[in-house]
Amino acid sequence: MNPSSNEALYELCGFARVACEADLVMALEVDEAGRASPVASSPPHAFSSFNLSRSGLFDSAWSAIPAAASGFRLPTAVIHALPEMPASLLFVPAPAEHAPKSGLLLLWAHAPSPAPLIEHVRLLASSVASTLAARREAVRQVAMRDQFNDLLESVPSGIVLFDGDGQSAMINERAAALLACRPGSHRASELAAPMRALRERCANHAELEAAYAARVGNVHFAAAHHWVLGDKTYEVDTHPVSGDGQHGRIWLFTDVTAELRIAATLRGLAQSDPLTGLPNRRHFEEQSAQILTAAATAERAVALLMVDIDHFKQINDTHGHPVGDAVLKAVAGRCNDVLREGDLFARFGGEEFIGLLTITTENEAAVIAERLRNAIASTPVLIGQIAITVSASVGGATTKTTDPAISGILESLIESADAALYRAKQAGRNRVIMA
Ligand code: GH3
Ligand code: MG
Ligand code: MG
Repeated sequence: MNPSSNEALYELCGFARVACEADLVMALEVDEAGRASPVASSPPHAFSSFNLSRSGLFDSAWSAIPAAASGFRLPTAVIHALPEMPASLLFVPAPAEHAPKSGLLLLWAHAPSPAPLIEHVRLLASSVASTLAARREAVRQVAMRDQFNDLLESVPSGIVLFDGDGQSAMINERAAALLACRPGSHRASELAAPMRALRERCANHAELEAAYAARVGNVHFAAAHHWVLGDKTYEVDTHPVSGDGQHGRIWLFTDVTAELRIAATLRGLAQSDPLTGLPNRRHFEEQSAQILTAAATAERAVALLMVDIDHFKQINDTHGHPVGDAVLKAVAGRCNDVLREGDLFARFGGEEFIGLLTITTENEAAVIAERLRNAIASTPVLIGQIAITVSASVGGATTKTTDPAISGILESLIESADAALYRAKQAGRNRVIMA
């Protein structure tokens, strides 16, 4: 509610009361159906709304001569506002656009003022009408602002909204908490520093600076970036907000930490073998492309190793499938322990594993393959009380290419390594053969 329009109405009522020596003057906002809302009065009283449709007031047009109050049906609230029963009353129409039957109601307990003085009241009526209209507009704007604020706060995101005039800005509570300032209206210039400070606190600050450098001076700029703030990640979406031919801008900060965590978990599940925790075959194939490209760029050779546990069926048959599972886990762990960071090692299927490594010399591949074989076979695997002797055969193949069109390389490496593995099995198992 705009207090100034209400004050003006109180003053108009007071002025009318003094001018006409009335005992009570009320400014009434009255709609088409006669529903009257007292907006101000002199002296001030607390009235509730009432209905004037059958008061007869609207039928008797302004005549500047007060009529006997007894001829009108008035709400008791109005009558009781006077010390005695009103003797006379006068209704001066002040039709406002939204409330066409509005007006000033004047009451006298005793003899009314002479007519010439009452004439002044008519002059006040147009002021009353325009003040009622201003008041209605103010109420409407407050309601709109309340609605807008409710909307701003109901969105599960921090919102920073810059007006098109470049002067003012508005932030909701979530954004205020992030920017460490109060929610509500701000001068646009006041928010520049907190926004910059927040961005500078991000772990990926440099990347963001580069991304937003393109924004400078571009009113059409729109982008969504992840801002990494401590253990939280916000998706920060910014785009222009047009209106009146001007370009405002909105910044939306949405906490996507939980979604990203779930997505990462799901990705991990989709990429790894649940028994051993190693990458699965599909993930191996995806990752191998990166290793092959990087090796080709660095002009380095790669080695592919196929590792197959010897007579694994017998382990299952002798000790049962769950013990077989435990052996697979143990073998995966032993292999992982001897490999270097950056080597890709995956469960290829069943009791078969596959490794892809970048190497410096041809011999290096055979050394690593032998290290793997030894890690598996050197000591029995202990599952509960059972010590199980395990060995594996390894087939390896190496290649070096600087050809960036590397499609088919992985397949041919696997084929060669598989053939070498077959020969290792034929030659008595528990051995390494390089193609
Ligand atoms: P070889 O020395 O020739 O490789 O003999 P092998 O017994 O290891 O080879 P084969 O291919 O005959 O048998 C592999 C066995 O591995 C058969 C299959 O039941 C078993 N196996 C495959 N996946 C799993 C698994 O996830 N858990 C268990 N416990 N056994 C598995
Ligand atoms: Mg086997
Ligand atoms: Mg096999």
